[in-house]
Amino acid sequence: MDVLVIGGGLAGCEAAWQVARQGCRVRLLEMRPFSFTPAHKTSLLAELVCSNSLRSKHLDTASGLLKAEMMLWGSLLLGVAHKVEVPAGGALAVDRMAFAREVTKRIESHPSIELVRKEVKDLPHFRPLVVATGPLTSLALSQALAGLFGGEHLYFYDAISPIVMGDSIDYGRAFFASRYGKGGEDYLNCPLTEEEYDMFYRAIVDAERVPLRPFEDPKFFSGCMPIEEIADLGKASLLYGPMKPVGLRDPVTGNRPYAVVQLRRETKEGTLWNMVGFQTRLKWPEQKRVFRLVPALRNAEFARFGSVHRNTYINSPVFLSMSMALKGDRGLFFAGQLTGVEGYMESAATGMLAGLNAARYVKGDPPVVPPATTMMGALVRYVVSCDPAAFQPMNANFGLLPPLTKPPKGKRDRRLAYSERALKDMAMWLREVVYAPLKDSNMGRGE
Ligand SMILES: Cc1cc2nc3c(=O)[nH]c(=O)nc-3n(C[C@H](O)[C@H](O)[C@H](O)COP(=O)(O)OP(=O)(O)OC[C@H]3O[C@@H](n4cnc5c(N)ncnc54)[C@H](O)[C@@H]3O)c2cc1C
Repeated sequence: MDVLVIGGGLAGCEAAWQVARQGCRVRLLEMRPFSFTPAHKTSLLAELVCSNSLRSKHLDTASGLLKAEMMLWGSLLLGVAHKVEVPAGGALAVDRMAFAREVTKRIESHPSIELVRKEVKDLPHFRPLVVATGPLTSLALSQALAGLFGGEHLYFYDAISPIVMGDSIDYGRAFFASRYGKGGEDYLNCPLTEEEYDMFYRAIVDAERVPLRPFEDPKFFSGCMPIEEIADLGKASLLYGPMKPVGLRDPVTGNRPYAVVQLRRETKEGTLWNMVGFQTRLKWPEQKRVFRLVPALRNAEFARFGSVHRNTYINSPVFLSMSMALKGDRGLFFAGQLTGVEGYMESAATGMLAGLNAARYVKGDPPVVPPATTMMGALVRYVVSCDPAAFQPMNANFGLLPPLTKPPKGKRDRRLAYSERALKDMAMWLREVVYAPLKDSNMGRGE
């Protein structure tokens, strides 16, 4: 064995596959069927625990672009997904059992991959090691990880606020300022009048919510109360909480606003803005409907919706380098939801990168990362270099990409231009960095 991978989920299967494609031998450890997470139901690898959709196929969407990049690279999961696809409009949806069965078959029959069913309770000393045990990592291993990172840097629940695309905000209805003038113009403030707040308040308390899953413990949520639950406490509660207007003066009226939604930059360029304190369990269409009642957000496009759910992840900006390895231990890689990416395909994509770099470690080659202009490269860069104090899991979205030099006018054309640039750069990177060294070698044994 050259590489050890823990976790036969979406990231772990991609990691093992990429190691094997690089001509190395890999052992993949999966705890099921001896031990189950609260969400997995079968002993199959790459089980999709909830939706059977891998999201949009179109290149004018971020998830469509991410999948196109993964296809170029040679993703195991997407190859299977296309084989077992079920009709779902513009989305790539799969027959979940056929999907997991086929992935399991391909992994089991690959001559360079050894699948071992075993729960890992402590971090092995073997290097290179890829840890891809997911959002529901078993208790014993979670404790071992907490020992490595320190309990305060390993999270068990996430409380995610929505993120708004910068180019969809009505800046004429917002103003830059920090409370009491402290911190310059760091925040973008979206004011509401009393009537606007009344309408917003009624909408939020009536909006439909995602119910807690049976294994999610409500007491964990007390530290990060969803905005709608704060609203349930009474009409004034938001005005003393996340929507408080204190220390702010609207330059248009010269007065303190009645209520305010504060947005904080997610990217230096202001392509993405986080709704401060707006973690929420509202259903996604409801978030769009309710948050668009804020005048500055009436046309808001959401790069990421809010959520609050059970999720084990590490504070990656503190600990991980772009190769997905631990800073200070180049042979210890992390992948999947555990690294603070959000979503099936995002998890799988980080598995591909960790697998590639684990194989390069074996060969003595330096680690690599896709260009910043690709969705995969941008997502990884975000996760390892955003503000650690405000770190929340992130999914693929166009706001992560560096701006275009000559952006087309329309939104769809702009997104297609991002995708065109990304796929061109990805293809070149794959050709020159990933595949060139493999020419005439034993790449793809057993495929
Ligand atoms: C309940 C729930 C629903 C979700 N729904 C969606 C959704 O609909 N769409 C979406 O895009 N994302 C969803 N996600 C988020 C995320 O995309 C998925 O969880 C995704 O499966 C993450 O991939 P992963 O490889 O990181 O983890 P997983 O796919 O969970 O794989 C981790 C694997 O590691 C194994 N394992 C755990 N601990 C050990 C151990 N100690 N030793 C050996 N093996 C171990 C597990 O059995 C599992 O097979 C959901 C998450 C949860 C928790």
